[in-house]
Parts: sequence; structure tokens; C-alpha cells
Amino acid sequence: MIVMMGVAGSGKSIQSQMLSDQFGWKWLSTGEILRAHITDERREQMLLGKLLNDQEMIAVLDKVLSEYRGKEVILDGFPRTVPQAEWLLGKVESGVVRLDGVIHMQANEDVVCARLLARGRPDDTKEAIAERFREYREVTLPIIDNFEAAGIPIYDIDGEQSVEAVHQQILRVIEPVKN
Ligand code: AMP
Repeated sequence: MIVMMGVAGSGKSIQSQMLSDQFGWKWLSTGEILRAHITDERREQMLLGKLLNDQEMIAVLDKVLSEYRGKEVILDGFPRTVPQAEWLLGKVESGVVRLDGVIHMQANEDVVCARLLARGRPDDTKEAIAERFREYREVTLPIIDNFEAAGIPIYDIDGEQSVEAVHQQILRVIEPVKN
């Protein structure tokens, strides 16, 4: 498994899909899963740019991961909080999941804000974008420390480059993983 991490608009989904197409890895996006199984409560939280609660997300992941046990997976959008990261690392420790590394897409908020406003998903309003950035900085970024403490490799990628240039950079850093 590879975890794809990055603020909204950093390109994690497109890059995950490119890797998925190229290597046949299963792309699992929690945002896509939630949009496919939307409820009024989920929609409300997502439109505000708020993270859904950990129990709910862990239950979603537990189910989907059991469907893809033993397969190569790119996890896009999970974990996003310390409890989610600790849950996943628990799975790694118990040998249920093999986590090869974390791809950390880095991009300046002004750059990704412009991309998101151009994309225009319903949750891409100025207010929801600001909230997602704040949660990313305060709640999601600290999980890097949990991964580091667990000895998981973190690959920093410059997400401000073109889609193709980012893809090439990812291919270079994950070279050892794919072999
Ligand atoms: P994304 O498609 O990754 O941008 O996710 C869209 C929205 O789904 C986020 O803004 C959150 O509201 C929700 N979401 C997706 N993944 C998670 C997660 N791991 N934990 C909590 N909320 C999530």
C-alpha cells in the first residue's frame, strides 16, 4: 500500500489515478467513496469542508480494505487525523497491511486554491476551501510524525509542477517500491 497525502488541490487524486492506470494498483479515495455513499449528514459536513468523524471513516476503511486484502492499493485521502493514522499503523504492525510509503504532495495554498476554484466541485467554495486548508494544517499534517516514528518512508513531492512533471517525480521516488 501507498498512502497519498496532500492538501485539497495538490493533485493527489489525479496522481493516484495515473499510478493506478500504470501499475494496476487499486485506487481507493475516501472522498470518492463518501460521494458514492452520500447521506444528508455527510453532504452537510463535506460542503463545509469539515472532516467526517474518525469512527465513521475507520469503519468505511475497514470494510473497503478487507475487500482488497493482499492487493496493491493507493490510499488517497486517508488517514487525515492522528487516530486514523494510528489505526492504520496498528494494521501495519499486526501484519494485516503492508505500507510501503507515504507520498506527500506539497503545494502552496494560493496555487491550490486557484486550482480548486477552477475545478468547481460543490465543496470548492472559498469558505470550504479555507476550512479544508485549516484542518489540513492543524489536524492532518501532524500525522507525518506518526508515520516517521513508525519508520514508514515519506516521499516529498513538489505538487506545484505540471501533472506530468509531478508524475515523473513520483515515479523516480517510488522506484524501489514498485520492484
Ligand atoms: P477529498 O475528495 O479527498 O477532497 O475529500 C472530500 C471530503 O470528504 C473532505 O473534505 C472530508 O469532508 C471528507 N473526507 C474524505 N476523507 C476523509 C477522511 N479520511 N477523514 C475525514 N473526512 C474525510
